[in-house]
Amino acid sequence: MTEETLLDRALVRLDQAASHLQIDPDVIEKLKYPRETIKVRLLIRMDDGSRKSFLAWRCRYDDTRGPTKGGIRFHPDAAVEEVETLAFWMTFKCAVMNLPYGGGKGAVRVDPRQLSKAELERVSRSYMQAFAHVIGPDRDIPAPDVYTNAMIMGWMADEYYQLAGQVRPAVITGKPISLGGSLGRDDATARGGFYLLRHLAGELGLGSEMRVAVQGFGNAGQFIAKLLAAEGHKIVAVSDSSGAIHAPGGLDVEALIARKRAGQPVTAMANEAGVQSIAPDALLGVHCDVLVPAALEDMITKDNADAIKAKVVLELANGPVTADADAILEKKGIVVLPDILANAGGVTVSYFEWVQNRQGYYWDLEEVHQRLLKTMEREGRAVWNISRERGTSVRTAAYIHALSRLANAIEEHGTQSYFIS
Ligand code: NAD
Repeated sequence: MTEETLLDRALVRLDQAASHLQIDPDVIEKLKYPRETIKVRLLIRMDDGSRKSFLAWRCRYDDTRGPTKGGIRFHPDAAVEEVETLAFWMTFKCAVMNLPYGGGKGAVRVDPRQLSKAELERVSRSYMQAFAHVIGPDRDIPAPDVYTNAMIMGWMADEYYQLAGQVRPAVITGKPISLGGSLGRDDATARGGFYLLRHLAGELGLGSEMRVAVQGFGNAGQFIAKLLAAEGHKIVAVSDSSGAIHAPGGLDVEALIARKRAGQPVTAMANEAGVQSIAPDALLGVHCDVLVPAALEDMITKDNADAIKAKVVLELANGPVTADADAILEKKGIVVLPDILANAGGVTVSYFEWVQNRQGYYWDLEEVHQRLLKTMEREGRAVWNISRERGTSVRTAAYIHALSRLANAIEEHGTQSYFIS
């Protein structure tokens, strides 16, 4: 018997959503496989003169609704099935938000912390050289993901311009502002989740003083902590790959972010007054109203889900809750605001960046925030209403919402009944 892959497990969500809709079998046939996945080896000259090769992938999962869109991850455990699953999620995320995109994703199997800055630049440029033939403003548009950032996007954009012989900033999003990036892209993922949580707070039974635990303290984790703390909520626990800390009276988020920016792990705060070090998994069991997974996939499983005490799980990470764990949380009455909606603020502002690049006219921060707020509230409300009307989890509702848009688009190309009638 072959082992169930991450993509097989992700596809269960597609089947669940399909059972609620009258859709043509063509739709499922199209969506259950990635359209194209390319694998290469990047051969990099290291600072010590040696050559090292790194595996890299780019997947374009489905482009029915527009060019594929998705981040590039640099991670030592990156694998093809993870890339394809993330690309599947991007297909649904763009459809949930009604962005004119399909889904894609890319990765390099590398630990960027082991590279010098010059080696990191060579890996980034080499990635673009290898995949430039599939990437483009109307074909496939990358963005940052885990352990990649604006500077890396800037290098990749520059490499694309050298190859294309022209400056085409819409080829990649999440660029530095001075290289055509959008204002508001840096905190967009967290801000989108924050707007969603605030919009549904009444329905979710959340008060004006929430206690929040954040797993993962990178881009998404730091910004959500900052946005919530600024509104008077308490961040009572955080973790990163070094470990976790707990402060029932609330952490000083600004001080913690300053420490992280200075290169220290969150556990460096552990000896300060009111702050104690806890086991990484213990973060899930702290007393709080909202738990924010903002690290990696498969962090909440059937083995630890039962410990969760939060009322709401806001998934800023992609795929942090396994399907088994989902069932446990549902039974406990914990509402999960799913990744394809809750972290879609990032791709939404990436879309705004692409629009601004194409029109050559740039918006101020207020306009970006207003448009993001409107999009998160519009699609968040639509998903919430589907979940109430159909009595489903919010995750299944988000998949139903996305699948109906994808199905409409796929069916417009003609289905079996059209061709045999
Ligand atoms: P990042 O690299 O900035 O941060 C990742 C954080 O997770 C780091 O603090 C790291 O130490 C921590 N981490 C790693 N392993 C951990 C573990 N076992 N326990 C606890 N913490 C751990 O990445 P990011 O951009 O913030 O992305 C985080 C998640 O959000 C990913 O799932 C990513 O796909 C998702 N996401 C990010 C964006 C974005 O715009 N940045 C958009 C959508 C989704």
